[in-house]
Amino acid sequence: MLIRNARVLTFDSAHRVLDCGTVEILADGSIGEVTDTRRSDSPGLPLNHQPAREWNTPGNEVLDARGKLLMPALINCHTHLYSTLARGISLPGRAPGNFPEILKKLWWRLDRALNLDDVYYSALVGLIDSAKCGVGTLVDHHSSPNACTGSLDQIEQAFRKVGLRGVLCYETSDRNGTASAAEGISENIRFLQRHRKGVGDELVAASFGLHASFTLSDRTLRRCVEANQSLRAGFHVHVAEDRCDVDDAWRRYHKSPVRRLRALGILDDHSIAAHCVHVNTTDIAALAGLQINVVHNPQSNCNNAVGTAPLLEMVRHGVLVGLGSDGYTPSMWEEFKAAFHMQKVRNGDPRVAFSEAYAAALLNNRTIARKIWGWEIGRIETGARADLLLVDYYPPTALNNSNLFGHFLFGIANAPVDSLIVNGRYVLRGKECVTVDEREVAAKAALQARSLWNRF
Ligand SMILES: [Zn+2]
Repeated sequence: MLIRNARVLTFDSAHRVLDCGTVEILADGSIGEVTDTRRSDSPGLPLNHQPAREWNTPGNEVLDARGKLLMPALINCHTHLYSTLARGISLPGRAPGNFPEILKKLWWRLDRALNLDDVYYSALVGLIDSAKCGVGTLVDHHSSPNACTGSLDQIEQAFRKVGLRGVLCYETSDRNGTASAAEGISENIRFLQRHRKGVGDELVAASFGLHASFTLSDRTLRRCVEANQSLRAGFHVHVAEDRCDVDDAWRRYHKSPVRRLRALGILDDHSIAAHCVHVNTTDIAALAGLQINVVHNPQSNCNNAVGTAPLLEMVRHGVLVGLGSDGYTPSMWEEFKAAFHMQKVRNGDPRVAFSEAYAAALLNNRTIARKIWGWEIGRIETGARADLLLVDYYPPTALNNSNLFGHFLFGIANAPVDSLIVNGRYVLRGKECVTVDEREVAAKAALQARSLWNRF
């Protein structure tokens, strides 16, 4: 397959922007040649004089992008697909007034009510929403304590159905008792034995999921480390999201959550530490030293009023910080904007956060995906996976590799996603999901949600 006549943001080693490029997609789902067409086979031919038709030949499709913007598909490094069917749910009684109350009154009630069908439809809807926002890869963190065993298979099935790339894990926690924690560990082991690393054309990979320091005993954490010894997977855990996690770790273990988890062998260069809102300078130095992957989730942090993460301080100290949505939104552009805006407010300085927000959304997420799961995504370069996003964006001002930030913030983030290709296959085409019938899925999900809300 060939995509021609596209304005290509390559994110290759030279960060080339091709005003009129051609990108070849090979049958194995990788990127073949990337050509600056204007410079080679059609010198001087203006964009609007390129042929506007599109045609198919068996096995050799040529898509005329007609000057649309082609860039790497977006990556969401921390989300909870199981939250999708909570949309519009009402909570009985007094509204939760802090983070522990939000967990108890909403999320821990919802996850206990989920059955395996709910898990499947939550994932399916969440993935369709993500595809429509140009997200090709999601790192999910799942919990359904009363439908634990086999739940990751349901989510995997949804990923394969929609055709997105994903990393799955089960949220081990002691909050529902030791038997439930043991079942969570088993679900991680079972799934990891099949999917530890998603190299090459493999769409699904796995991590070892843990909730957070404040709902995990030393005993359970040691069991997880022991179980993971032969699997050698990275852990995916919430760290210092709210002050309550920090207070709990100091009260019970006389150290911060970062130092506690590090001492137990949870944190390493293959682990994801989501949030890290309440980390001090000692913690930040430890995170940098461990080469851990921190994932910032600004909108969720705002919504839960837990605080703003010290993004600039972490980056300054050499911590790799990616970006996630924590289930709050399918749109990574929203998170990109929130990260940028919140750091300006946090620091009281309009000059900051340009490079940090840009790096988190567009560079660090792909670094995390390559480092942990071996995926070559997030760039349009020969040999990388063909995870591509075609956007209806025709820049009204000069666009080059030195001013992408302004175009992302004020233009591309607001432009309609036309098509999404993952691993060389269309997921979205002409703004329609081509792998599943979105309306049919929504109708089935609505029935599922009605029954879920009755059990809630
Ligand atoms: Zn989370």
